[in-house]
Amino acid sequence: SRKLMVRDEKGAPKYILGVSEDVTQHAVAAERIAYLADHDALTGLANRTRFSREGKAAVTRDLKAGRVTAVLCLNLDGFKAVNETHGHAAGDALLIAVAARLNERVGKADFVARLGGDEFAMLCTEVQNPETLAGLASAVVEDMSRPFQIDGAEFTISAGVGIALSPTDGGDLDALLHKAQLALDQVKFEGGHAFRFFEARMDEQQKARRALEADLRQAMTLGQLVLHFQPLVNLATERVSGCEALVRWQHPTRGLVPPSDFIPLAEEAGLISLLGEWVLRRACDEAASWPGQVRVAVNVSPSQLREAHFVATVVSALAESGLAPTRLELEITESVLMQDSDATVKLLHQLRDLGVRISMDDFGTGYSSLSYLRSFPFDKIKIDRCFVKDLPDAQDSNAIIGVVASLGANLGVVVTAEGVETEEQFHQLRALGCTELQGFFIGRPIPAEQIRARLGAAPASLAGAAPPIKLAKPPMASAGPAREALANAS
Ligand code: C2E
Ligand code: CA
Ligand code: CA
Repeated sequence: SRKLMVRDEKGAPKYILGVSEDVTQHAVAAERIAYLADHDALTGLANRTRFSREGKAAVTRDLKAGRVTAVLCLNLDGFKAVNETHGHAAGDALLIAVAARLNERVGKADFVARLGGDEFAMLCTEVQNPETLAGLASAVVEDMSRPFQIDGAEFTISAGVGIALSPTDGGDLDALLHKAQLALDQVKFEGGHAFRFFEARMDEQQKARRALEADLRQAMTLGQLVLHFQPLVNLATERVSGCEALVRWQHPTRGLVPPSDFIPLAEEAGLISLLGEWVLRRACDEAASWPGQVRVAVNVSPSQLREAHFVATVVSALAESGLAPTRLELEITESVLMQDSDATVKLLHQLRDLGVRISMDDFGTGYSSLSYLRSFPFDKIKIDRCFVKDLPDAQDSNAIIGVVASLGANLGVVVTAEGVETEEQFHQLRALGCTELQGFFIGRPIPAEQIRARLGAAPASLAGAAPPIKLAKPPMASAGPAREALANAS
């Protein structure tokens, strides 16, 4: 540090000033402030302020010169789940790693900024050929889907990219950002993990989606979505082995809307992951209050399984509810395995490694059911209702159910028949070798409080408000658990 000697009029030392240090500190602080004003403190990327300033200038410059500028908006899928389940330190490290990969992709003339949270943007100036943008965008999408190693753990996320061009999509930066965001919304709606250029119709589509999304989001926040639970009876123990969670929309004017009326809508609108996550968390919370041997089954849509963060969501739902993983069953349909089965099978194994059980739902309704059974060792096969409804007489249904039941026995897999409505069907299905039954004869789907009340009594004493069913040929002669389980039927 430099010292300043201050002398008196005669030239003798009067005092010494140590101001030099202050000057240096001032300079460092000023530099730091200037840096922070322009950079994102966590990742070191440009921040929104700088992106905005330089972006505006670049668009104006390119416009004058008759050149094309591009804005790419990027959003991460699965970041939130990592942050929630592994903590903010892991989340921060992930963002830093993401920033590093993005930085490697951009050319010298262009730059990448973090706009906030898990939102990033890229600016490409003097674009010669939009094809190069497609190349850049797809490379970025691929970059983000490669696993990230953080503190010895591996994280898989994915990203979507929306692209807008000046002058075609707008003549200023704000317009470009808005259009690129609309294109990004479209990507998300289509399942993410892709890039799209802005198209005019995206405006309208987005408005319709927003309206439905608002409706459904509101339905969730207002508690208009409810779960009903339907019991499944294990024929060996003759007790309720689990309950399937089935969602309903308690609509203020339309009454109780069945899932068939809004699940497809939610899938189409890209809202199924939001809804599915709500169902999953709600079902786990509810099941945590049940007796320990009773599992909960949750239906999972194909698009949920395509999301990179699905496993993290399941982990988080289990952790927050305290439900043992072995008490959660996820029901998937064959259609899940029809597309991208390698990735899906890998994901199913990850879930199974957690201890979660995987059931094949609606078995027999798809194209090549048996080949799907080979692709993953399912814990349970649920024979579709369409085979059960023809029982006890239809020969083909009898034959098919019999074959599936013996297949299940050989594979050590639970075989459940769905849609059991009559006593005849009940006995026939047991004779055919099914190990578990579900249907109105066992019990209808009922609200959480009601199922809790029934299960919450003594495990074997399930008789609730429903009158006992009179069986012509009771499964057991004495008053055993079967009767009590069946006494629950309504
Ligand atoms: P699913 O998974 O096959 O569910 C069984 C459906 O059969 C339920 O209809 C249930 O009420 C009905 N059911 C049960 N026993 C009987 C019976 O003995 N006879 C008859 N006729 N029907 C019976 P629900 O609740 O209307 O659900 C319809 C479909 O909606 C479900 O079919 C499932 O694919 C879907 N779904 C329901 N909840 C969810 C959810 O939370 N997420 C997703 N992704 N899909 C769901
Ligand atoms: Ca199901
Ligand atoms: Ca089913």
